[in-house]
Amino acid sequence: MVQPSTGCDSLARCKPSWYYTQVKKRLAEADAQKGYILVSASCAFRGFVRAGTAFPCAQDGYPRTVQQAKDLAEFQDVQCVVNLSLPDDILVAKLMGRRMCKDCGRNYNVTEIKEAGYEMPPLLPKASDCEQCKGEPNLFTRADDNEETIRSRLQVYKQHTAPVVDFYRGSGVVLDFEVKKGLQDMPRLLDDMGVPQEAR
Ligand SMILES: [Zn+2]
Repeated sequence: MVQPSTGCDSLARCKPSWYYTQVKKRLAEADAQKGYILVSASCAFRGFVRAGTAFPCAQDGYPRTVQQAKDLAEFQDVQCVVNLSLPDDILVAKLMGRRMCKDCGRNYNVTEIKEAGYEMPPLLPKASDCEQCKGEPNLFTRADDNEETIRSRLQVYKQHTAPVVDFYRGSGVVLDFEVKKGLQDMPRLLDDMGVPQEAR
């Protein structure tokens, strides 16, 4: 899987021609590896339309509105929509536990969730991280990882993005998946998606 590492915010400020070039480059890499491309930018639409392709890709967090879903339907056949769910309180606790290292930018999470079927360990710096990071990671909390901002992001999700799931329900492509252990859930998710072992 080829993952563009650039974040959406910076992409959104770039000229369409720059984004077009990036998408073309990524698609060539994915094609060479016979892999898939993971698009984590909500501005993916513009780049893909300009790149004029229907290359198979996994889009993370796009479309975010029903209008975007309608636009997407014009050039891409959506085969599976994974609807991840997690109780709000657990989500808020996990997001509030996010920490980033000031020196190297690595992401960590100090929250441990262990209750009623949910099991999400904290993600703490390993010895090897510390070695590469002047002896000790210098962790800080991003300003937008506070409860008020997180809860308002959840509201935006419920208002604008949850209807996208309903939009797709009619076509029978929605796969509802309850997150229980974070990344450890991946094999179960791939099972549910029917991804064959050799393609993992
Ligand atoms: Zn560091």
